[in-house]
Amino acid sequence: MKLSRRDFIKLSGGGISSLALLDLAGLDYPVWQLPQAIPLKKRIGEKTTICPYCAVGCGLVVASEGGKITNIGGDPDHPVNMGTRCSKGNALMQVATSERRLKKVLYRAPGANGWEEKDWEWALEQITRRIKDTRDKNWIARDTDGYLVNRVEALASLGGSAQNNEECYLITKAMRSLGLVFLEHEARLCHSSTVTALGESFGRGAMTNNWNDIANSDCVMIIGSNAAEQHPIAFKWVTKAVENGAKLISVDPRFTRTSANAHIYAPLRSGTDVAFIGGMIKYVLDDMESQPEKYNMDYIREYTNASYLIHSGYRFQDGLFGGYDPAKRSYDKATWQYQVDELGIPRKDKTLKNPEAVFQLVKKHYSRYDVDTVCGITGTPKDIYLQVCRTFAATGAPGKVGTIMYSMGATQHTNAVQMIRAYSILQLLLGNIGLAGGGINAMRGESNVQGSTDQALLFHILPGYLKPAQNVQDNLEKYLKANTPVSKDPLSVNWWQNYPKYFISLQKAWWGNAATRENEFAFNFQPKISANYSWIALFEAMNTGTVKGLLVWGMNPAVSSPNLNICRRAMGKLDWMVVVDLWETETATFWKRPGVSPDDIKTEVFLLPTAASMEKEGSVSNSSRWAQWRYKCCEPPGEARSDLDILNQIMLRLKGQYKKEGGPYAEVITKLTWDYGVPADPHLVAREINGYDLATGKLMTNFTVLKDDGSTSCGNWIYSGCYTEEGNMMARRDPADPSGIGLYSRWAWCWPLNRRILYNRAAVNLQGKPWDERHPVVKWDPGSKKWTGDVVDGAGTKGPTEAYPFIMLAEGQARLFGGFTLADGPLPEHYEPWESPVKNTLSPVQNDPAIHIWRPEELGTPDKYPIVCTTFRLSEHWQAGAMTRNLPWLIELQPEMFVELSEELAAEKGVKNGEKVVVETARGKIEAVALVTSRFRPYKLNGRVVHHIGMPWHWGFAGLSTGDSANMLTPHIGDANTMIPEYKAFLCDVRKV
Ligand code: SF4
Repeated sequence: MKLSRRDFIKLSGGGISSLALLDLAGLDYPVWQLPQAIPLKKRIGEKTTICPYCAVGCGLVVASEGGKITNIGGDPDHPVNMGTRCSKGNALMQVATSERRLKKVLYRAPGANGWEEKDWEWALEQITRRIKDTRDKNWIARDTDGYLVNRVEALASLGGSAQNNEECYLITKAMRSLGLVFLEHEARLCHSSTVTALGESFGRGAMTNNWNDIANSDCVMIIGSNAAEQHPIAFKWVTKAVENGAKLISVDPRFTRTSANAHIYAPLRSGTDVAFIGGMIKYVLDDMESQPEKYNMDYIREYTNASYLIHSGYRFQDGLFGGYDPAKRSYDKATWQYQVDELGIPRKDKTLKNPEAVFQLVKKHYSRYDVDTVCGITGTPKDIYLQVCRTFAATGAPGKVGTIMYSMGATQHTNAVQMIRAYSILQLLLGNIGLAGGGINAMRGESNVQGSTDQALLFHILPGYLKPAQNVQDNLEKYLKANTPVSKDPLSVNWWQNYPKYFISLQKAWWGNAATRENEFAFNFQPKISANYSWIALFEAMNTGTVKGLLVWGMNPAVSSPNLNICRRAMGKLDWMVVVDLWETETATFWKRPGVSPDDIKTEVFLLPTAASMEKEGSVSNSSRWAQWRYKCCEPPGEARSDLDILNQIMLRLKGQYKKEGGPYAEVITKLTWDYGVPADPHLVAREINGYDLATGKLMTNFTVLKDDGSTSCGNWIYSGCYTEEGNMMARRDPADPSGIGLYSRWAWCWPLNRRILYNRAAVNLQGKPWDERHPVVKWDPGSKKWTGDVVDGAGTKGPTEAYPFIMLAEGQARLFGGFTLADGPLPEHYEPWESPVKNTLSPVQNDPAIHIWRPEELGTPDKYPIVCTTFRLSEHWQAGAMTRNLPWLIELQPEMFVELSEELAAEKGVKNGEKVVVETARGKIEAVALVTSRFRPYKLNGRVVHHIGMPWHWGFAGLSTGDSANMLTPHIGDANTMIPEYKAFLCDVRKV
């Protein structure tokens, strides 16, 4: 007899005490139809929740008695973790019971050296008064070019990726209605480069596959990530793949816990991924020439833009693409375009032989990336590098599949977008996108950072990746035209042609009856942007006094921001700051940090105690795009309230104040739809996100029926379908997997349209048969003209020859040659990090030529700072540390800040394991304990020895375990496309204390 996990639990009865509490006997409905408000039949108040730490999104079962949590265990039904948890998930109980949790509202007056306890009424009144006064005094109706922009730059909001989707959505809605443009959160710092790179390559910016699916892979290459430590439970699916016979490759500057499990460990100097992958692309293309039968040429020809002809003026020379203007440090992209025929359809050469075809241009570009050159840059031993090339290239054979997994080691660089583009090109050449066990798994690090990005807590997007209006787009027609791509190719689905439906439905969700055809659906209610307002720009603006008031939602920028001396100093220039958190963080207490006198810091601080994940209800989206509902398991401690409730109170008060007192463009706030009850009901918010048919009042089935005439509303089109007339789809809990490949399609809900593997039309050949028969994602039946399997990616009634597979790109085929939306080139090119110990050997251009250099005087040079430094995370701590450095269990496991260095460097510096060292860069210096290991080895770069060190970045001066912050050392420099800060490659020196 075959038992499911649930059967096992039912049959095991009281023998397993914590599991027995999930007794389902007597239920007369299938588990996936359980009532929404009662996730499981409980004997003593058990509810399910989702782990608040990383974006694996493990399920947990919380038991409580008398309103107090008595146990938190792994959810045995959850398809990803199946009852298991890592050290952080295990320690969550201590978040629930900690005496260190904030229980009262605290206020720090200007110049005061301590907190005062306050009540909520007083605090909310004071905060709303500060917001209104700051907004009204600093309102910008028109920018310096005279364009109507209706915005405020004196207010900023940061956070938060640990909040529920409903909270994130309302933060976006509230802040934009107030006119804020400085709106940022963790995603800028962790995966903004992913969104841009994957969007440019495939059409969407999210992880393509899902955690369980990794088990289907024949080869897993983990580069720029220590997945075994940072996504521990997800790593079990890597282990499963290896058990099934897959090869595991770990590429990392340091030999990590992931490397220890790998068949091949390849060291690479931090920041050299484009060279590493560029060499692999060359290897594949060379191999393909002599042995095309080893590769899926049909996939390349039919599903990528390999055959497209590029403008005959396209050039690449001496490290620069054509169109570069050194004075502006930017490109004119006129020659990075497709040639088109008389109908406007891109011209193609299916033989791939035309020298202007993308395939030939890619070949030419990477012809310079020979093994010797690559290994001279990356420091990878040649024999190991060739092993990696051979092993991963083998997944290009039809019927074989490989996946790439990465995280911050790739995303946090000055040319991070191009690194991830390079991964995309490699995966397309190997035909690995859209298939089970393939794809690019961009591993998100926070429980809802996927969702918070989807809900647009970033200045440059609106919910569902719509675009905020630019200053020059002074009417709705211009705005929609600029954002609605046109394709003349009848086979292109060009999904973004629906853009007007999604934008107008968003406007209806936000301004209801006040968004009319006459006022262009309240188009001018949205603040317009005319500059870059991303993280580094925000802190630079704070430092110069432009930003005067800051709201921080569950973030700790006083540890996570780069160049912390600037960040912490900038906070002292604010008039006021509101921090909403569980703990007294470094951000909340920046005014009493070591080395400063509180008397000199005039910033007022309001510290609001908030509810933890299991003390409130709502949805979070894991890295696999699964929106999972979590339940309120107990009340928050003391007077703490959920972020949803706090924001609700602030907005209700502000609406009242603007109604009574008026103010610049007051109607944007007074007419904002805001009716969620008191306290706010997350179900009402989730329904608003899903959208309504405004004529019938019924919830939308999904986004395919949204309209652009004002008759539908939808807060976030990609989430439409998450909460329908059938109920809350995000709360579904059917652990069955009829697909047999780990789709779990009736567990929770996945955007878009519950599709589990993106771009799955590319998983079949032109006859509709899966390339990999072992793991069919979808199949086309030409007889019935129907797709079976996963929800097919677009054009569900059209067969494989009737529509191109990459529906979010106007041309419909994935981009080997990209750059249409990028600042620094259509093909990834290797440039050295801003601070590098060596000269670029591939071209005379040292750094990415399109990066913005904020502080040239802070460049560290190799004569003073000869050692390459990187930062990393630990399994036992989490991000900026507040959620782990306050928990004794985790501190016991990883007690203090350290710096890891090689035995060779330690001997050179006369440092012994356990001694204290000083690490210094051009920005600052810190002290840490030396951890001397053989996990770092000196790199040989063209015969020259270069040392490499690394350190965790979780520590700060607040909490139970304190230590110097690694980000005292990191520079204010960002990627050319997204301004994601360079955290992973900079220069330093080390000395014994
Ligand atoms: Fe799972 Fe991540 Fe939580 Fe660990 S931290 S239990 S891997 S969700």
